[in-house]
Amino acid sequence: MKTTIEVDLKWYYLDQNNSGGYFIRNETVQEYVLIQAVSPEDAESRANHIVEGYSSYCECCGERWSVWFTERDGTDEPCIYNKPLDEVDPGWYRQNAVLHYFDGTKRFYKFGTGFVPYEQLEDDE
Ligand SMILES: [Zn+2]
Repeated sequence: MKTTIEVDLKWYYLDQNNSGGYFIRNETVQEYVLIQAVSPEDAESRANHIVEGYSSYCECCGERWSVWFTERDGTDEPCIYNKPLDEVDPGWYRQNAVLHYFDGTKRFYKFGTGFVPYEQLEDDE
């Protein structure tokens, strides 16, 4: 028997620590990684899968990723520190986010600009 349920998807974000003095930036991870998921547990499992392979870190600076979500972390819209992306000011070294949608789609966001194709993320550097 086929069962269909309706769930609320929420967004969770990871804030990359620039361990060792650098960020890892590629088509999978950026300074911020936003993950759309059905629950904090789902977000954690997706997050662990996403950062796998991009987790190198330096002992003195600490781990690159802190994957730990609670219900309170989930937002309806993609947010960073409770701010929608279009209200996040680009910092001198925090410019981009990658969004991982529930269906596996990825989109790239450049603060102060908006959604851009991956190739345009590095334009200003
Ligand atoms: Zn260090």
